[in-house]
Amino acid sequence: MLKATCTMSYCDDKSFRKLCVYMGTHACHFTLHIEMDDFEQEGINEELIEFAIRESLHDAHKLPCSSQTNRESDSRARLPLHAAAVQPQQEILHVVLQVVVTSTELTLEEQTDDGDTALTLAAEAGLVENVGCAAITMLLLRNGAKVTSRDGHGVTPLGVAAEYGNAEALDILVQHENYGDLRKTPLYFAVSNGDVTCAEMLLAAGARSDLDPLRCILVAVRAERCIVHLGACCFSITRKQACVAGTFGFVLFRYELVRLLLSYGAEVNCYFGVITDTVFPTALQYCLRDHAMLRLLLNSGYHAHKCFQCCHGDGDETDSSWTDLHNQAYQIYSQPDVISFCEFVSVLCLAHVVGSVARLLLDYVGHVRICPDLRRILEKKPEWDEISDILSKTSFRDVKVGLNLP
Ligand SMILES: [Zn+2]
Repeated sequence: MLKATCTMSYCDDKSFRKLCVYMGTHACHFTLHIEMDDFEQEGINEELIEFAIRESLHDAHKLPCSSQTNRESDSRARLPLHAAAVQPQQEILHVVLQVVVTSTELTLEEQTDDGDTALTLAAEAGLVENVGCAAITMLLLRNGAKVTSRDGHGVTPLGVAAEYGNAEALDILVQHENYGDLRKTPLYFAVSNGDVTCAEMLLAAGARSDLDPLRCILVAVRAERCIVHLGACCFSITRKQACVAGTFGFVLFRYELVRLLLSYGAEVNCYFGVITDTVFPTALQYCLRDHAMLRLLLNSGYHAHKCFQCCHGDGDETDSSWTDLHNQAYQIYSQPDVISFCEFVSVLCLAHVVGSVARLLLDYVGHVRICPDLRRILEKKPEWDEISDILSKTSFRDVKVGLNLP
């Protein structure tokens, strides 16, 4: 056995960080006891360091580790504590924690230049340069790391795990999270990712879907990507990639996510008026070209009748309930800038979908009349004959009911 002395001059920044992690110290000069059979002393480099690391792992608890060395940071203000949180060996973290938890100068909430704590870094595990593991997250929590800490973007560890689709860390954090006013961001991230697994875990833990200005159900309806979990791995695919790959997985995940949110009480008739304020509930706008999604929403209680409410009239109101409804609608849409369905679909880019959408909506309304504006649009569509037939039949049916005819 030879004795090799490795100094900072041999190490690039990456190696330096590794040394901080694995040796639980960050002294510029330290001594490694290693077998030199396969290495020349001249070639002290990353390979050598990694070899030494492997050999030293089981002796990690014997390493010299002081409060002073644990306070020394790299160029990004990453302490040994942070480096220990992004590697897979809990023994190494254990060595660092022994110092940190007994220190009067260090806490588990120390932040890097990016605002990361050890726990937010652990929640990102699985990313490039961040191997991590569930045991690391658990060890940090057991030693008092705060689940309420936030990274440089104001996101909690739970939010970070949801954002990066780290289901394993999310599962642990959910059990430690004392939900309060923090719940909206993690679910929003999970739904934004199209991540059914993480969204379900959060919903089961009590997350509400109605806390974000843009409701989670609307995010799910218009999802552009989804995360697929396969064992310990997960990968993200976009709508475009799904089309190229010829897979229907993406589409199925979108429906599953919407069904999941609805099963937990998400409001299908919610509104998001920041961009377009409409008489009809917002979700329809996001699925005009996706009839399966539209039907899913309609089957879940979407207010289809609001798509036929506007101020244009039809000059033929004889039914008192319709007149009441019409007056209510008038009060709603007569507000400045509130758009009715007939106005919304009058734009050229929707000309090819309005016929089929209107036809579908008619399956979910009873008594309805269409305004002259919408009629003019629909008369030019191939679905008009069928629509016209349905309108006349529903009108006749209503008259029959009113007269108590067989
Ligand atoms: Zn109208």
